[in-house]
Amino acid sequence: MENNRLYSPKYVKEIIDRYGFKFSKSLGQNFLIDGNIVRKIVQGANITKEDYVLEIGPGIGTLTEELALNAKKVVSVELDQSLLPVLEDTLEPYDNVEIVHGDILKIDVRKIIDEKLAGGPVKVVANLPYYVTTPILGMLLEESLNIDSITVMIQKEVADRMVATHGSKTYGSLSVFVNFYSRPEIILKAPKTVFMPQPKIDSSVIKLNIKDELPDVDSEQLFKVVKAAFSKRRKTVLNALSSYGFDLDKEFIKKSLEEIEISPETRAENLSLEDFINISKILPSLNI
Ligand code: SAM
Repeated sequence: MENNRLYSPKYVKEIIDRYGFKFSKSLGQNFLIDGNIVRKIVQGANITKEDYVLEIGPGIGTLTEELALNAKKVVSVELDQSLLPVLEDTLEPYDNVEIVHGDILKIDVRKIIDEKLAGGPVKVVANLPYYVTTPILGMLLEESLNIDSITVMIQKEVADRMVATHGSKTYGSLSVFVNFYSRPEIILKAPKTVFMPQPKIDSSVIKLNIKDELPDVDSEQLFKVVKAAFSKRRKTVLNALSSYGFDLDKEFIKKSLEEIEISPETRAENLSLEDFINISKILPSLNI
């Protein structure tokens, strides 16, 4: 097979007809049909011949092919069994690609990284199934895996929330969560027309550059504070924290906030990651 032609809409149709493949909406199957976007994702992820790549959801192998051409080794995890014979065919020319059948949220990702991608930090690259974007990114960020960066196509609004900084309307617990583990950047926007079938929403490719060292704080306690503070966006941080059910005295919270020079009147959307870290450190271990 000639290199780099999997993204041609004509070829995608041909493959689909040949295998009698039916797109599954519930598996978030929107395949890329734009070579330019495919190349830009791989360039944005900074993939070189030294790199070990984990791909989630290869579909018919469109992005996988571009990754195989640029990386040292690619392991792609696909849930849909009916795509396995397709991938065997489309990726047949590439001996640096391995397909694993499974659900990325259920398989042992650490084992895959340690055993199949041993040799260097791993770069995750994917056009993610949108119905599971947050759980997948949550798992990849929280599990302390040997990952260098995560470059993924996701719903535009979700990407905007991830890169939002304090003081903006889209800033929320997802922004704090993502910024705790990584330095996020949006590397490109993609219209609906680059997919087959076309989704209803616009997309962005976001790159999460994983931090080498995480802030020195109990992350569980930190995210309890963040969740509570954003549970009532319109309330002041003092009111949100004291009415959340932590069983903390309001006056005590007020004094604690003042001690770390955070006005009790501040709203969650105006608190930085640093502020949240300081709050979570000054409060006693939270019970819910
Ligand atoms: N990478 C291909 C492309 O860009 O054309 C396909 C991307 S499509 C948006 C998402 C892919 O993820 C589909 O192939 C779908 O079957 C697969 N998928 C859905 N849920 C999955 C899961 N939990 N684990 C692994 N793959 C999954």
